[in-house]
Amino acid sequence: MTDQAPVAYAGLARVLSGVQPTGALHLGNYLGALVKFTRLQHETETFIFVADMHAITQWQDPKLLKSQVREIAAAYLASGLDPKVATIFPQSAVTAHAELAWIFNCVARLGWLDRMTQFKEKSGKHKERASVGLYTYPVLQAADILLYKATQVPVGEDQRQHLELTRDIAAKFNHDYEVPGFFPLPEALTQGPGARIMSLRDGSAKMSKSDPSDYSRINLTDDADAIVQKIKKARTDPEPLPETMDELKARPEANNLVGIYAALDGRTSEAVLAEFAGQGFGSFKPKLADLAVAKLGSVGEAMRGYMSDPAEIDRILDAGAARAREVAAPILAEVKQIVGFWG
Ligand code: ATP
Repeated sequence: MTDQAPVAYAGLARVLSGVQPTGALHLGNYLGALVKFTRLQHETETFIFVADMHAITQWQDPKLLKSQVREIAAAYLASGLDPKVATIFPQSAVTAHAELAWIFNCVARLGWLDRMTQFKEKSGKHKERASVGLYTYPVLQAADILLYKATQVPVGEDQRQHLELTRDIAAKFNHDYEVPGFFPLPEALTQGPGARIMSLRDGSAKMSKSDPSDYSRINLTDDADAIVQKIKKARTDPEPLPETMDELKARPEANNLVGIYAALDGRTSEAVLAEFAGQGFGSFKPKLADLAVAKLGSVGEAMRGYMSDPAEIDRILDAGAARAREVAAPILAEVKQIVGFWG
């Protein structure tokens, strides 16, 4: 896209990421995003938001949106995010996100957005009926990140293309307004075995909140019975697990289940395969179910605990929003000055 060479950015490592309040969080969100947030909060300055402005790019019931935001916040807390260490806030409580997004709408090029595969997937066959917000979603995402001059963005593999666009917007802004290094070119942290968890019903589609089939995903709020049933019903083939990774990769559903086991257990797929090669799913699935119940059961229980006290969640989110506004305000003020805006 842009041919500008990256300029070294001298700021401290700052992490920013978020999840949309579009439904129950699942294993993919947990392994691809939440686990990483929790780990990074002790190593960097961490900002984690609930992306309600992104959520309304597709219809959300206004009567439910606030409680959906609280549910995501509860999942953050239950998976170990500490509001004394990380800044946790609702996106819509910091209006600077929208202001910067407008400026970036004027920096990003139509041709760049035309290439975004997530818009193509989410808009389906009738893209003329999709909201304009869904189309410019990655521009708002660039604003979310650059408003805090974040340098690292822990996300699942599905967000890699959007992160490339953020870098292109940052580089073009720095170049066009002749402010080299003003915005960092943030790095996507997608590594790790949980980077792309696939649907339990279709090994070629990613596990997603918006998949209509509840059996396609394991939700963080699922109880032990539901987790066991969903793993039992997960689509597989009749063959035992193979000896080599190449053979495993040729079988997407089997590869996904081994990958889930590896991610939950903090091991590589190779190590898991070495242990289970030759076993059929009749014996592998119950072991996977035991592991999933052991790892996720306590997260679900903690989530229910936080959700029983919505006033405390609101207090955490309001305090986080105040802190986020403090950090964002001077950066936005500088951007407005660079652009030549009034006031
Ligand atoms: P929706 O279906 O509403 O788009 P989603 O399940 O894709 O929701 P998002 O809110 O878009 O979830 O993403 C939140 C975070 O979870 C992002 O970092 C995203 O990359 C990560 N993520 C989402 N799905 C997966 C998955 N299947 N595997 C790994 N990471 C994932």
